[in-house]
Amino acid sequence: MAIERVEPYLSAEAIGTRIAEIGAELSRDLDPVEPTVFVCVLKGSIMFYADLLRAVTTPTNCAFLAVSSYHGGTKSTGAVRLTHDLTIDIADRDVVLVEDIVDTGLTMDYLLNLLRARRPRSLRVCTLLHKPAREEIKVPIDYCGFTIDDVFVVGFGLDFQQRYRDVPFIGVMHFDDADPA
Ligand code: 5GP
Repeated sequence: MAIERVEPYLSAEAIGTRIAEIGAELSRDLDPVEPTVFVCVLKGSIMFYADLLRAVTTPTNCAFLAVSSYHGGTKSTGAVRLTHDLTIDIADRDVVLVEDIVDTGLTMDYLLNLLRARRPRSLRVCTLLHKPAREEIKVPIDYCGFTIDDVFVVGFGLDFQQRYRDVPFIGVMHFDDADPA
């Protein structure tokens, strides 16, 4: 049996500092009057989304969608499925898509095609993490918190089998052998 271990990778303080910087950047770039629709990609983005919205000083609207691409393991199946759609119309609206992590890029590519078809006025991509080593499709990223190594991370919204989302920092998931021969 394997024992799970989470090794600290990005501290809560470092994440907070970076989110404040991205929030300031977005506040400079976004419309100061018309609310921008911030789309939260459930569930992994929840912590990033909540902190980011409070760091943005221009007006915002909240919107949520959910996709599933991982099925319990640490490797993507490649098949992306929309499990919850937006409940608002984004036609002619400025939109910021908020993701937890861009790994292979398949999920982001799927989401961008989905949202572009709805004719928003603008569509920006904001991701907390980017793992370029595993890129399969190049996707445009307008705002990125951290570029990370090819490791499986949990915490700050990111899960392993629906656990660890509540961990306040980001850590690398290790599976140690409980009974080394
Ligand atoms: P992609 O489609 O880019 O391969 O993967 C995107 C989704 O896979 C992310 O939204 C996230 O839910 C999940 N994912 C990718 N890498 C990691 C990781 O290192 N840790 C966790 N917990 N989820 C990941």
